[in-house]
Amino acid sequence: MEKSIIKLKNVSKFYYSKGVIASGFSRLNLEFKMGEFVVITGESGSGKSTLLNVISGLDSYEEGEMYINGEETSHYTEADFEDYRRRYIGNIFQSFNLVNSYTVYQNIELVMLLNGAKKKDIKEKVLELIRTVDLYKFRNTKVSKLSGGQKQRVAIARALAKDTPIIIADEPTGNLDSRSAKGIIKLLSEISKDKLVIIVTHNYEQVEEYATRKIKMHDGKVLEDKELKKYKEVSNTEENDYKNISFLSKIRLGIRNTFNIIPKFLLVLLVYLFITTALISEYASFKEEEHLESISGYNGFFLNNDEERIIIKKKDGTSFSDEDYSNIEKISNVDYIIKDDLLLDTQIDLGDDNYYLTTRVNSIDNFNGKIDMGRKPENDNEVILSGSKNDYYIRYMADELMDRELYLRDMYTGELDKSTPVKIVGISYTDSNGYYMDDVIYVSDGILNNLTYQINQMYSNLKVLFQGKYYDSSNYVNNFRIVPKRSISEGMVYISSDMNYLCKNEYCIGSDIVIDIDNLYYKDSLNLKVEKTYNKKNMESLLGIKDFDGINGAIFISSTDYNKLFNRNSYQSSVFVKNVKDIDSTISKLNDSGYTTLKLTDALVNSEAVAAIRIFKTIVTVILVVVLFFISYFVIKVILKSRNIYFTTIRMLGATKKVSREILIIELLNDANIAYLLFGVFLVLNYFNVINVGFAHTIIEYMGVKDYILLYIILLFMSYLISTKFAKKIFKDSAMKTLKEEV
Ligand code: ADP
Ligand code: MG
Repeated sequence: MEKSIIKLKNVSKFYYSKGVIASGFSRLNLEFKMGEFVVITGESGSGKSTLLNVISGLDSYEEGEMYINGEETSHYTEADFEDYRRRYIGNIFQSFNLVNSYTVYQNIELVMLLNGAKKKDIKEKVLELIRTVDLYKFRNTKVSKLSGGQKQRVAIARALAKDTPIIIADEPTGNLDSRSAKGIIKLLSEISKDKLVIIVTHNYEQVEEYATRKIKMHDGKVLEDKELKKYKEVSNTEENDYKNISFLSKIRLGIRNTFNIIPKFLLVLLVYLFITTALISEYASFKEEEHLESISGYNGFFLNNDEERIIIKKKDGTSFSDEDYSNIEKISNVDYIIKDDLLLDTQIDLGDDNYYLTTRVNSIDNFNGKIDMGRKPENDNEVILSGSKNDYYIRYMADELMDRELYLRDMYTGELDKSTPVKIVGISYTDSNGYYMDDVIYVSDGILNNLTYQINQMYSNLKVLFQGKYYDSSNYVNNFRIVPKRSISEGMVYISSDMNYLCKNEYCIGSDIVIDIDNLYYKDSLNLKVEKTYNKKNMESLLGIKDFDGINGAIFISSTDYNKLFNRNSYQSSVFVKNVKDIDSTISKLNDSGYTTLKLTDALVNSEAVAAIRIFKTIVTVILVVVLFFISYFVIKVILKSRNIYFTTIRMLGATKKVSREILIIELLNDANIAYLLFGVFLVLNYFNVINVGFAHTIIEYMGVKDYILLYIILLFMSYLISTKFAKKIFKDSAMKTLKEEV
């Protein structure tokens, strides 16, 4: 005699509910062998289902001993029973427990995937099983469209696909008409040849013909247990050795579940679109605020606070060469370079005796706006004025300013330099707020150099060695400055006759003079000779200058010598970037190429406000994430309520909690990814102006790659948390409890 595959010894099952103990069955002694086709009958409530559930490992027992293949099971954990169910038990239920949204094929495939079968092995076997239960025509039909009898045949095929030694069927024909019922029983008997089949039915007559044994229950006890006919004993009961579901199969099921119920998919997608939109717009609006705050500060050092500006110096302290500039221009985000950086932070007055404008200066080569009034400059003393539409002067005085002879104020004397008149020939309006420092005149390189030298002189310490004695330009002897004059020959100087008292015999012509220059970046000196002296009377004929009082004390030298002193390569320049969003990467490229950098917005004294916004942004984002998490969790919980049945089903089929949870996570991650992708498409459409939604443009303008990645990670993390929380809830109860509630 072969040993029993299942043996119950004095096993009892009690139910405790609300303090009352009910008996499911008590002190049962039963043995089941392979090859048997057992039919259990008995009136309702007699304990048939309870017995099947205990045998299936779906429910616990309280008393006695149950042996599986000779092994006692009192020490079994939930995981052991999960494993047992996978290896031994194929269940067929009265209510089928199929996945209604799957096709016949997919339902049968499901169990094979869960048990680790390979895709190439699956197809043939599934189709063969579908033929066995005579449903080939319906293989691609959704189960929800089938009749009861057909559904039960799918359930049988599924139980067979699992290929377990034991098949347990609880009233499999309860919902079927008698013709279908007969077919089902016949099918079960055909497959039972080498298995143990235990079937509960109300209708003994249907089964009589096939059953090998009959057990009749009454009030939790066995009333009758009799062998009806001999059966072919199966010698070796080899349990199935299952592999775990493969990663790919989990992905496949996750993707299938994402799309297989379209309304559900759309609802979940809507939730994720909502989260994505809320999160990204909130984040972008903070970035906008942070940005606006960061450029609205001021500092005491630089007049030009353009957010595109980076001040650079060479790390080795040398001056910039042409090679430096051409290398810097090759950096992708660099728009243009202002070689003489000091110019940017200098204000120039432009006007005549009636009124003047205070503006910044830039080279005409850097002008890239459009001219709204007038034309482009055609010669060296013609300039373009650019300023805000909202600026009073530029708006209402434009006609008056145009084509009029104007003068630049000499930075040294504070007087208008009437020797070099300039003309505004074009006006360009900008969209800026109309702070006065937004006004810029674009000038020729000739004017620019002039101004640069003036500035260089202003920022330099000049000394004159005269008759063995140093005179400093800053302490007053004769508050001198150096002025270039083309008419003077190289090596010569003209000085004021007021300086004659410094010389022997009060006569300076022919004396030696040394001019020393010393500034932040370089020192130099020139040896010269006094050629002439000037006074109020001869000034105009000698130098062509009328305003003697304005310039008296100046030391006039040749243009060549002047250039020697002041026309130096720059030591500090400014780079302007095209795209402020990428300014930090431009800065790191500059640093890598050997330049020290200062980003102008970092030099503003509003860093506290920016820091406060940053902290606030982080806090609000975190709160928003938490709130969105709970909102979406509860909405998704409602939408996915129907998923309970699905997960109960796959756990019946042998999926562990872990596997079930992973399949759910994959499903929700899919939804999150699709939502994020759709949102991306939405942004791209806005970017190319196919559609035009205001907040999308804020997002496009202020979000960088890093921000998109950060928010993507937050989104994925959120959907991961949602699915684990949801999984925790639906898997909290044992599979059995969920099954009973759902069915
Ligand atoms: P059958 O399947 O033969 O109709 P069951 O096995 O479902 O009978 O029930 C056997 C006994 O156990 C009945 O008295 C029933 O009331 C009781 N019972 C079944 N399930 C529960 C439960 N979850 N809680 C309490 N009592 C239960
Ligand atoms: Mg029952």
